[in-house]
Amino acid sequence: MIFRQLYDRETCTYTYLFGCADRREAVLIDPVLEHVARDVSLLEELGLTLVATLETHVHADHITGGGLLRAQTGSKYGVSAAGDVVGAELQLVDGDVVSFGDHKLEVRATPGHTSTCLSYYLSDAGMIFTGDALFIRGCGRTDFQEGDAGMLYRSVHEQILSLPEDTLIYPGHDYKGRTVSTVAEERAFNPRLGGGRSEEDFTALMDALKLDHPKKIDVAVPANQLCGESV
Ligand code: FE
Repeated sequence: MIFRQLYDRETCTYTYLFGCADRREAVLIDPVLEHVARDVSLLEELGLTLVATLETHVHADHITGGGLLRAQTGSKYGVSAAGDVVGAELQLVDGDVVSFGDHKLEVRATPGHTSTCLSYYLSDAGMIFTGDALFIRGCGRTDFQEGDAGMLYRSVHEQILSLPEDTLIYPGHDYKGRTVSTVAEERAFNPRLGGGRSEEDFTALMDALKLDHPKKIDVAVPANQLCGESV
């Protein structure tokens, strides 16, 4: 399997590329509009056909590149069915499977940061892509887009930290230069959700955070509900 971790410096967003080495089909998780040319070049260089772009949620901090990639490559646009995203061919729910060549990504609903959050589990490779549900030593905020701290706590524990302890965790963002963690590491060291912290403790901690209004939310969310194509 081909795997690449790509990065947007402005919003600290990770984009992930997977390809089937035999059948040359690829998917991208969380492409960023400003990096579509970079991603198309990489697909061409690696000899891969993009079959789908998958969103971990309807993002508030950046506009997706999925709509433009669809226009340029013919890929399908995948996002949570809960997002009411107009024109998305793949309306994803928990338990769905997205195939690329000989490989499969399992869709796991992990709401709480937003109501549309999905994680993607590549069980063959022992990798999970958690979007903003679980970060390395942190988690996404829960104060907008139907965020719910209790729901996030249950999502993370039931759908992510319940996986085998050597499962690799790839987050949607990292603001400190880290790239990957494991289930065992986050169970032990995540200061918000690990170390046996209770749901009540976690909810109180999240409720006490006083965070700035996201800079791009008023532009990004409406655009992303149109597959990023309204700009
Ligand atoms: Fe987010």
